[in-house]
Amino acid sequence: MDSRLQLIDSHAHLDFPEFDTDRAELIVEMQQAGISNFIVPGVSATHWQNQLKVVEQFSCFFGLGIHPWYSDALNIVNQLDSLHALLATHKKNKQSHLVAVGECGLDKLHNSYFDTQLKVFTAQIEFAIEFDLPLIIHAVKAHEEVLKLLKVLNPRKKGVIHGFYGGPELASRYVNLGYKLGIGGLLLNDNAPKLQHTVAQLPLDAFVLETDSPAMAPKNSRNCRNTPLILPNILQKIANLQKKSAVLISEQMFSNVTQLFDL
Ligand SMILES: [Zn+2]
Repeated sequence: MDSRLQLIDSHAHLDFPEFDTDRAELIVEMQQAGISNFIVPGVSATHWQNQLKVVEQFSCFFGLGIHPWYSDALNIVNQLDSLHALLATHKKNKQSHLVAVGECGLDKLHNSYFDTQLKVFTAQIEFAIEFDLPLIIHAVKAHEEVLKLLKVLNPRKKGVIHGFYGGPELASRYVNLGYKLGIGGLLLNDNAPKLQHTVAQLPLDAFVLETDSPAMAPKNSRNCRNTPLILPNILQKIANLQKKSAVLISEQMFSNVTQLFDL
């Protein structure tokens, strides 16, 4: 690993139980690999308490939100109220490392009720506007709806379409609205030609690096648990596709993520 590289994982669920046995060791290993920090997105009210414990313990950045997979929980109205209260508390606290609302969004491959997903996502875009925070967005097979909401509600701080998998045309529509695309382990799979075209063709300020750990382990890896330690591989793949040096890509990715989330 080149010692000049400084990487930030913009999307890593290191609060999840998959990391309970070796979280501290993993974070030391990440630092040795040049991964200086990471953002832990929130997914549901039942996860926030433990998430906040972990982010405080390791002083890392975090988002607070309700993932579309959890948006039709029975207590969803209460969850939105609690989310609003938590955002208000953390936004006021100058010591807090809260940097985003999310992850939130729309997912048509998931069986939760789509109308409820729309309501819960809309509420969170409104929270992002109220607290002037960028969004971490999960969008699966629902890009038209996501684009429409972002266009109509037009939050000032924009955000990231995390785990982006689409082609250059879809990518450009997000980028033209001011959003960035989270590029992760999918890029390492040979069967992702659309995404490879996107990364080769769009300007470098369109992307941020992410892993979505523990999900999205690259297909050829022996581990079923993904970790931020694959970030240098993603970086190298972007460098190859863009025909530029890894150092240059890492500097641009670092500046993209720090600007977007005001780190
Ligand atoms: Zn995620």
